Amino acid sequence: MRQIYLDHNATTPVHPEVRDVLMACYENDFGNPSSVHRYGRRTRVQIDRARDTIAAMLGVSGSSIFFCSGGTEANNTIIKGVASAHQDRGRHIITSPTEHPAVLDTCAYLAQQGFEVTYLPVDEAGVVDLQALEEALTNETTLVSVMHANNETGVIQPIADIARLAHQRGALVHTDAVQSFGKLPFHIDALEVDFLSFSGHKLYAPKGIGGWYARTPTALQPLLHGGHQERGLRSGTESVPSIMALSKACEIAVRDMQAEWERLQQLQQRLEHGILESVPSARIQSATASRLPSTTNVAFAEVEGETLLMSLDLQGVAISTGSACSSGSLEPSHVLKAMAVPETHLYGALRLSMGRSTTPDDIDYVLECLPDMVKHARVD
Ligand SMILES: *Cc1c(COP(=O)(O)O)cnc(C)c1O
Repeated sequence: MRQIYLDHNATTPVHPEVRDVLMACYENDFGNPSSVHRYGRRTRVQIDRARDTIAAMLGVSGSSIFFCSGGTEANNTIIKGVASAHQDRGRHIITSPTEHPAVLDTCAYLAQQGFEVTYLPVDEAGVVDLQALEEALTNETTLVSVMHANNETGVIQPIADIARLAHQRGALVHTDAVQSFGKLPFHIDALEVDFLSFSGHKLYAPKGIGGWYARTPTALQPLLHGGHQERGLRSGTESVPSIMALSKACEIAVRDMQAEWERLQQLQQRLEHGILESVPSARIQSATASRLPSTTNVAFAEVEGETLLMSLDLQGVAISTGSACSSGSLEPSHVLKAMAVPETHLYGALRLSMGRSTTPDDIDYVLECLPDMVKHARVD
């Protein structure tokens, strides 16, 4: 049976060139970067080199890049860190209802601790309302956290506009860039954010490695205390192999970014035209907004997405329904709910996310299977 992986927004396979770096590091470089002897000095240099590679990709200096275990930890560190470091000035945070749970649940936790959290409305494409942001900002607002590209729809938020408005009122700005990092060419200068989170495993590096950019690291309080690694902001012995792997993944991403973007754009058009032709009642989410070319969120009327997911899985096609974190439950996606997707389509949403291995043949295979599955899955 064919095996087609269309769930790259959930995670990606490790790139062969990245795997080579990992294996070489496991074999040769086991030193603790905090050690003073040559073993330690060697891995220290490697980490700093990786930091510089990632910094160059973002157009910043190495000293503003910090490593941690991934997107969830980076989001927690920044949001909790900024909220607590600036609480003398104010206890108000602004975010959006379409964020990843790593942001939403962190904000919910802070709300329990007495912080005030405002969720900005989004339009039908899932783009945050800038007018509403302007009205929500107060002198007590310390942080605005809005994701760069959405993991369910791929929609890209107007981060620079958000940052400008927030900065006018003295608030700091964070963006969860886990889904755009290495896919969309951007420099921090253009986004104008103070903090940005990234993760390796969405970018063909291993799971359990990621990090954040911080314009002013001192504005953070660490979550972990201990050996003072990452200038005291993230204690714990560095995962040297994973850091080197992430650096390699970034080099590859930069090298292939333009070509990969164009290739995926063509695949996305092929997929979406094909679906709309064979199932005219299908709804492509965020189609009118600027979006990642890797991500298609399509909803079918009067079917359950879970049924389609299972049918596709039986045919060797791996996709997800809306949010990976809510798969297995029949709660509709919080992202699509916030976008006011009509009740008829809310339960019939699929997320197909393409990546480096995706071919036109893969898309054609899905287009062959899907219309019949939708027909049979109808809950009349
Ligand atoms: C996957 C993802 C995360 C979580 O990253 P981990 O490295 O898995 O903790 C956070 N935000 C977004 C947008 C994601 O897609």
